[in-house]
Amino acid sequence: MTEVSFHEVTKVFPNGTTAVSSLTATIADGEFMVLVGPSGCGKTTALRMIAGLDEPTSGAIAIGGKVVNGVPPQDRDIAMVFQNYALYPHKTVLDNLAFGLRQHKVPNAQVAQRVKEVSSLLNLDDLLNRKPAQLSGGQRQRVAMGRALARSPEVYLLDEPLSNLDAQLRTQLRADLKQLHQRFSTTTIYVTHDQVEAMTLGDRIAVMSEGKLLQLGTPQEIYKRPASVFVAGFIGSPPMNLLRASVADGRVRAGDLELDIPGAPAGDLVVGVRPEALRLVTGTARPTKELAVLRAHTEVVELLGHETIVYGSIRGQRVAAASADAGITSLASERATLIARLDASRQPAVGETVTFGVSLADVHLFDPGSGAAVEPRITQREAPV
Ligand code: ATP
Repeated sequence: MTEVSFHEVTKVFPNGTTAVSSLTATIADGEFMVLVGPSGCGKTTALRMIAGLDEPTSGAIAIGGKVVNGVPPQDRDIAMVFQNYALYPHKTVLDNLAFGLRQHKVPNAQVAQRVKEVSSLLNLDDLLNRKPAQLSGGQRQRVAMGRALARSPEVYLLDEPLSNLDAQLRTQLRADLKQLHQRFSTTTIYVTHDQVEAMTLGDRIAVMSEGKLLQLGTPQEIYKRPASVFVAGFIGSPPMNLLRASVADGRVRAGDLELDIPGAPAGDLVVGVRPEALRLVTGTARPTKELAVLRAHTEVVELLGHETIVYGSIRGQRVAAASADAGITSLASERATLIARLDASRQPAVGETVTFGVSLADVHLFDPGSGAAVEPRITQREAPV
């Protein structure tokens, strides 16, 4: 039973930086948990504290039900792959892969068997006799990952292990990792700032920002019910369209996007619509109780083969998202970018006016002050996940 838990864990570095702030979370036995968030949000520090490489300033970390504060790294049964992986430079790839197993006095025949499995999984067969200096960055990272996978620890800690790989290998290894986890169910904590990795790998995702845990849930929960405007803007690519709105008598006005949401609190709000929730409708379409209709001026069209991304402009004011704001910077200040993700067969021309329909069930509302999701409406309208 290897559950990993944080209880009110805070880490303040000697220079005064609070890297992790009051983190409380439990990673269940056998779970694949992804920590995701922008650079500097404290993901690596959280992982290093599980490994014992950094000590919490306050709070407790437990592995398998035992508090491990003060327990040195070598006495924790974990295998790690960090972003700045360190291989033994004088050892061959084979010896690097076998190192952890030999340290743990695993019999030679078993070492050979594990190394063979891992090397074939990670396409390292032709490199086994090379030294790290004779490898590319991506190959070194694969060896570092292989070294961790060769062991069967209680917990895997992986910090952006795929970041140096080319796109094709990254996709392949992502699937391999998932399959390995399905097979062995070893508790795994995986740090990334890549939300596609987070969505595809995680049983659950923990979204962090500025040392704080903002939301913890399954990928679907986080995608469908982001708890805050930050999470809404961070998870999803292209990011959710977020527009300033004002509300009176249940009528929500966000520039060209207008809709009735009974029960929406009067005053200022932020309205969120995911790019995939915008559907092209005919120019004569009329809004209904369930469907908002708005017209956009097509500014940029990206034909990606499997889908078309349209950057349109509408009257309105875009709210900067957590990830790099994908708005078109040259627009006049009273115009906002609206990003739509369409089927590849739909290819509007630049300059064309297109009409989008948005189901009310796909509209998110947030408080502009706290950023928190305005829940009553969401629970009313969204299908349960
Ligand atoms: P990235 O995705 O860029 O790796 P991260 O989310 O993993 O970022 P951390 O490396 O945990 O973030 O860093 C969190 C914060 O703590 C950052 O502001 C960072 O500058 C700071 N920090 C990290 N290590 C130290 C240290 N040893 N001394 C002082 N500050 C540190």
